[in-house]
Amino acid sequence: MTLYIVATPIGNLDDITLRAIDTLKSVDLIAAEDTRHSGLLLQHLGIKAKLFALHDHNEQEKSNILIEKLKSGLSIALISDAGTPLINDPGYHLVKACHENGIKVVPIPGACAAITALCASGLPSDKFIYEGFLPAKTKARQDYLTHLLDEPRTIIFYESTHRLLDTLNDMQTIWGADKPIILAKELTKTWETIVSFKVNELINWLNEDPARQKGEFVLIVQGHTKSEEDIDPKAIGTLKLLQKELPLKKAAAITAEIYGLKKNQLYQIGLNTEQ
Ligand code: SAM
Repeated sequence: MTLYIVATPIGNLDDITLRAIDTLKSVDLIAAEDTRHSGLLLQHLGIKAKLFALHDHNEQEKSNILIEKLKSGLSIALISDAGTPLINDPGYHLVKACHENGIKVVPIPGACAAITALCASGLPSDKFIYEGFLPAKTKARQDYLTHLLDEPRTIIFYESTHRLLDTLNDMQTIWGADKPIILAKELTKTWETIVSFKVNELINWLNEDPARQKGEFVLIVQGHTKSEEDIDPKAIGTLKLLQKELPLKKAAAITAEIYGLKKNQLYQIGLNTEQ
């Protein structure tokens, strides 16, 4: 009576762990989004297993059936079409119901497009947020992007081929043409491409060759960095005064202490002033 949450590849079929294969071989039932699609993966792995369909639209209802099966002693693996279940894929209701019913949930980690893209993005990865897909309609999407204007952490989005350009145009409108962005396309697949641009440059790059707009995409955007204009002018004034009498490092540290700011940021501003 255990539910295993098993990550599967996001493209390259070799990206499956030994533990995932062992688990898929040993369970009584595999719950999958698209049983035909997952059937091919299992065939590739030489696994004969009973499949059970669990989609976004029937998850709540089907979860009740799976909970009964788990309670009766069956072990079940949940997989999605690609990557880690529950990450923009079904599974949340089922896992919640397992916790409510005292059923053990065991995660079997593996590929996830968001993390795969982040680690190759060259953007700060110490703090990031995952936003999944943006709203489909322009107004809602622009409103959402407005909420994220001051977000200091790196932001990860998923995007589909047919909305990619609309989304980038909205990002340009709301965040400005200079916003640094990474597009990670077809990760782990033959045409894997990871490019780093400003939003307007990325739009041009995609328009130069429509084939570049096809595939599966992760967009990673640099979080908002405070510029000199965002800082209390009094702090800049103090920094400049202290800078006349003290080494920059010391001047930045004292100003940071007084105004509760980051000394590295003040140090950078001081450097710019000195030049
Ligand atoms: N559960 C998956 C995961 O762990 O990443 C995500 C599923 S979500 C329904 C599908 C979206 O993930 C795609 O539209 C795309 O944005 C992203 N994605 C999945 N595979 C990808 C890949 N190989 N390269 C780039 N993005 C990918």
